[in-house]
Amino acid sequence: MSSAGWFDGVKDLTLALVRTPSVNGSADEVRFAGRLRDIIAQDGFPTHHGDELRVVPIPGDPWRRSNVIGLVRGEGRRTVLLCGHYDVVSTANYGELEPWACDPEALAPRLIEALAGAPPGTLEALALTDLQSGDFLPGRGALDMKSGLAAGIAVLRHFASERPPGNLLLLATPDEEVNSAGMRAAREMLPELAREWELELTCAVNVDSESDHGDGGQGRSIFLGSVGKLLPFVHVVGRESHAGEPLGGVSATLLAAEVVRSLEWSPDLVEGQGAEASPLPALLKVADTKGAYDVTTPAAVWLYLNVLSHTRRPSEVLDWARSKVERSLQKGLQEAASRAAAYARLTGTTVVSFESQPLVLTYSELYARAGGLSAHAADWGQLRSLTEQPGLDGPERSRRMVEFLWQRSGLVGPGAVVGFASLAYPAASLEASSAGPFAGRFREIVDREARAAGEWSGSTVKLRGYFPGVSDMSFLAYGFTDADVAVLAENTPAWDLGLAQPKSGDFALPVVNIGPWGRDPHLRLERVHARYAFETVPELVWRVALAALAG
Ligand SMILES: [Zn+2]
Repeated sequence: MSSAGWFDGVKDLTLALVRTPSVNGSADEVRFAGRLRDIIAQDGFPTHHGDELRVVPIPGDPWRRSNVIGLVRGEGRRTVLLCGHYDVVSTANYGELEPWACDPEALAPRLIEALAGAPPGTLEALALTDLQSGDFLPGRGALDMKSGLAAGIAVLRHFASERPPGNLLLLATPDEEVNSAGMRAAREMLPELAREWELELTCAVNVDSESDHGDGGQGRSIFLGSVGKLLPFVHVVGRESHAGEPLGGVSATLLAAEVVRSLEWSPDLVEGQGAEASPLPALLKVADTKGAYDVTTPAAVWLYLNVLSHTRRPSEVLDWARSKVERSLQKGLQEAASRAAAYARLTGTTVVSFESQPLVLTYSELYARAGGLSAHAADWGQLRSLTEQPGLDGPERSRRMVEFLWQRSGLVGPGAVVGFASLAYPAASLEASSAGPFAGRFREIVDREARAAGEWSGSTVKLRGYFPGVSDMSFLAYGFTDADVAVLAENTPAWDLGLAQPKSGDFALPVVNIGPWGRDPHLRLERVHARYAFETVPELVWRVALAALAG
């Protein structure tokens, strides 16, 4: 098909998918799987056997969400997996326009009206220009990433009409925006499904979106991998006191301030160079652990830090955090001591002394100090009531477990505990040794097709190393070793509360991302570049898939 032949079909599919809401964590996300199956089947989805288009419930998912999987057979066993997520983030930030958030054609004129008169140079002004040009389509999920899924479905249909060698398998997952429950379940299921359907899974193309506020030159990219993510936490413990007598305790806040200074935007962990460099680490939360106002100083401060990486192991990041925290606490205590000495001089009182060797433990060390949990059956009931309340996120569950074990251990501050507060994403890369035997050939194929696209599409398509937004690709390529998983399992308090890594560590597929580009995903200004998404992406995915199936 010429690239222009895709446009109307992919646009119509995008509109149908955006009009079917699927906000993460809502009942719509649960219902969407069945609706997606119906949309895929609408024009007679051609499966070899009747059951090769399936809604597959995620085992143990408290919301009872499902993956959708569909196979189109050509000849032989070689199979390319096309995958993407169908959940979207909340529509609340559309404000007054929320009723039209999932209806791009009704939303566009209303957004244009709302944005009229936006000051030049702002995101809003750029959005107004984009929407007035007619080159961009707004709506929740239009960019992230229902237009990508639409391209995948269109490629599948086209494959069915041509029947070239090989097979295409489509996988659409929920929960990418939060905990990748869909993809983690899918990777457990794929090896078995491949056996049942007699498929040889060769490689995968993810069709997620990229944001670009420039001319689109960065957005029009094929990504050869996806960034890894860890969320180290620090629980800083001081000693509380009456506010009228602060030197009777140890200020957890002062100690935490040093920890914050040391961790926030620390360049130590940055990898790669130029446009390919990984971002600086960023604190996502810093809060004391008091529930309400009173005149007692806080006993502890809880914080966690987003760390995006290319090759760093979990053990390396944990060791780094621990040594930073050790030095910070020593520095904080020195500072506390000098302020206490100054107060003693002012008041003619005795100098209060502070420990100079504060205890910094990993979560697994704290767990051991506390005598574990299994020995204390009664604890479980208490811990359950603390951690299993609906609506608590992974980090908050982790914090409650750490506080609970710290109390049980009998330890007193000053000190700190470090560990991991949320789901860990392994980095994915075609260059990694774990990428599998087809990775080298796959890289040649995308290299060639990106260059060819410069000819047939009339604009450049770049190759970039790492998809910068955290993505489901992490759980297809799967770069964690058993040793990595062991470190994570021991140091992630909420491991058994939905943050475990997949069990089938030996399954890995080389994966690239070829998806739409646009601007301001997750904002009410979310919009997708129509021509690239509806023409270039499907043609590019089609060509890469055919070449990969040919070997
Ligand atoms: Zn996405």
